[in-house]
Amino acid sequence: MTTPRARLTVLAGPTAVGKGTVSADLRARYPQVWLSVSATTRPPRPGEVDGVHYHFVTPEEFDAMVEGGELLEWAVVHGRNRYGTPRRPVEERLAAGEPALLEIDLQGARQVRRTMPEAQFVFLAPPSMEELVRRLVGRGTEDAEERARRLQTAEVEMAAEPEFDHVVVNDDVRRATDELVALMGLPVAVD
Ligand code: 5GP
Repeated sequence: MTTPRARLTVLAGPTAVGKGTVSADLRARYPQVWLSVSATTRPPRPGEVDGVHYHFVTPEEFDAMVEGGELLEWAVVHGRNRYGTPRRPVEERLAAGEPALLEIDLQGARQVRRTMPEAQFVFLAPPSMEELVRRLVGRGTEDAEERARRLQTAEVEMAAEPEFDHVVVNDDVRRATDELVALMGLPVAVD
């Protein structure tokens, strides 16, 4: 007997490594890949659509999800907002024999490792620490205090790489996305 192939893949990595960019490339080029939509208490950024990029919820709504056991994992990210993975859609997807992907922070990945150790854990790494710092500062969507907070988080998060099953280097977004898709056991786009 072999175990079913449908598997949960968890993508995590340091701040500003480009997890969001890889997710966007995945949505654009691999609409067949099922990507979990997280709940978050942070307000939407321009262009973000409720129910597509996140479920934007109030702190009270998030509390209710936690209390109701509705989240597979959740974490306070960058000491600010809460983010969590709704449990039911993931479980339904896996029960249907289909692969699922979570793009979450390191604390969340550790929680999933405890509750679903059969998942595969993929660390998205920058080509170098210098490049990570460049991306962190270059993004320009956060104020100085927020950037400093994120840099500190990134240094701690980089040390977690050995905890992961696979490392994908985000040197080129399309290449990194293709490598992730291949790790999920799905066909890679030819273009
Ligand atoms: P952003 O606010 O830039 O969209 O995301 C900030 C961080 O939250 C990213 O590192 C992202 O991976 C993480 N994140 C997004 N959704 C979840 C989630 O459901 N759970 C956890 N633990 N982290 C999440």
